Amino acid sequence: MIHLMWFRTDLRVYDNPALYAACAHGARVVAVFLYADEQWQKHGIAPVKLNFLQRQLVSLAQDLARLGIPLRVLPVPTYASAAEQLLALALSEGAKHIYANQEYELNERIRDDQVEQLFKARNLGVIWSHDQCLLAPGSVLNGEAKFYQNFSAFRRKWLTVWKSEYSGLTPAPAIREADSALPGMIDFPFVINPNKHWEKLWAVGEAQAHLRLMHFIEKKLPGYATCRDFPGEPGSSVISPYLALGILSVRQCLQAARSVNMGQIEDGSPGVVSWVNELLWREFYRHLLIGFPRLCRYQPFKPETDRVPWLAGGSLFDAWCNGRTGFPLVDAGIRQLLRTGWMHNRVRMVVAMFLTKDLMIDWRLGEKFFMKHLVDGDFASNNGGWQWSASTGVDAAPYFRVFNPELQSRRFDPDGKYLRKFIPELSDLDNKSIHNPTVAQREVRGYPQAIVDHRAAAEMVKGYFKHVAMTS
Ligand SMILES: Cc1cc2nc3c(=O)[nH]c(=O)nc-3n(C[C@H](O)[C@H](O)[C@H](O)COP(=O)(O)OP(=O)(O)OC[C@H]3O[C@@H](n4cnc5c(N)ncnc54)[C@H](O)[C@@H]3O)c2cc1C
Repeated sequence: MIHLMWFRTDLRVYDNPALYAACAHGARVVAVFLYADEQWQKHGIAPVKLNFLQRQLVSLAQDLARLGIPLRVLPVPTYASAAEQLLALALSEGAKHIYANQEYELNERIRDDQVEQLFKARNLGVIWSHDQCLLAPGSVLNGEAKFYQNFSAFRRKWLTVWKSEYSGLTPAPAIREADSALPGMIDFPFVINPNKHWEKLWAVGEAQAHLRLMHFIEKKLPGYATCRDFPGEPGSSVISPYLALGILSVRQCLQAARSVNMGQIEDGSPGVVSWVNELLWREFYRHLLIGFPRLCRYQPFKPETDRVPWLAGGSLFDAWCNGRTGFPLVDAGIRQLLRTGWMHNRVRMVVAMFLTKDLMIDWRLGEKFFMKHLVDGDFASNNGGWQWSASTGVDAAPYFRVFNPELQSRRFDPDGKYLRKFIPELSDLDNKSIHNPTVAQREVRGYPQAIVDHRAAAEMVKGYFKHVAMTS
């Protein structure tokens, strides 16, 4: 009995429901990963994320080899040829079933439907597992059996459903008799460009991911509720890149948090309650992709907001993309992203709101720019975050609540630690002036003047939103 295990955004051996199911009853298992470079480039995968993915595939191949499972990494230009490639592999290996964990983005679901149809037409089995969320999309619905459009209501219902539906961790598969392929013999359809900076920032491997998680749980989770918003002293876990590729599962995160709070997630440690809340935002945005597939087509959740006259780029957009808007917190955020592939959550919100509200530039341009640079680029969370900031999304920031970047900076980076790290030309300024240097201070240091008048811009965008709301 031979089974195919199709890895996608679940690049781990532990707590992997599809892998466990594929390995049941002593089956021989051949693992496969489809390397769809052209497809990813079309959707703007960041070089840092691609590098992270390539290194993780090597690490996964080694972990699988220890279990006696060979990994085939097959190049496919786009998802269009996925079904045929998988069928060819199944036939050449003599496999009767393919196992995979579900993905929720539209292109991925279309691809999976094609695979299912082709396999079923050849009397081969396709077995899906549920993995990416704590509770499967569709299991947390309102009284009218519809998807929630309000996070607090979703969370309340989630907490009741969770008690009966949550299944916990899946065991690791047992070691089986070694197959033919050994790690050294694996043919990878890519060459990894060595980059010491990225390798240091984003170490691959499940063991590394767990070390990172446990470090956070022990050292930072207790203070998470109060520290999470301060980018100068990152109080968050920085595990998003590991969740995005599935090197860690969200269940492992929940389990780790519960283990230091007597199994509780609603009461007890404020750090645990607050962190689980963030995991649930991730969950909420994933559920919405199933409830409202138009989100995957770059459409706003609130259709009327497409009548806001969003700008399509230009020199203001270029200044934003290069971290040269003259608003220190905005520029520090973009520079952190360009330098590391990651940005602090508070700063993501400020940067995104600045692009859409102060510059009135189309949120979709910002969304794409983030995907092109984020190591944790994840469609659901990125789309959710951008639509929240642009006030176009589900349970989004109200349009009249426009962040003032200078006040955000004074409040969340009071001693300018974050600003100094990413805008070295301002590092000698005192804690008061660094958030909004004078014209002369900017000139001397080669730092740009503010490209927009925040107050005037905020009033203008509010006017447009109001008009759109009144005329729809
Ligand atoms: C404009 C914008 C774009 C974003 N793009 C992405 C993205 O592409 N990928 C991504 O993983 N997150 C994205 N986020 C959400 C959030 O900023 C990151 O998940 C978070 O900064 C990751 O840091 P962390 O791992 O230290 O989070 P922690 O605070 O430690 O939270 C733990 C985990 O919960 C999830 N999470 C936390 N906050 C959010 C949130 N607001 N929405 C959804 N999930 C959340 C993440 O998986 C995170 O790793 C975006 C937010 C905004 C405002």
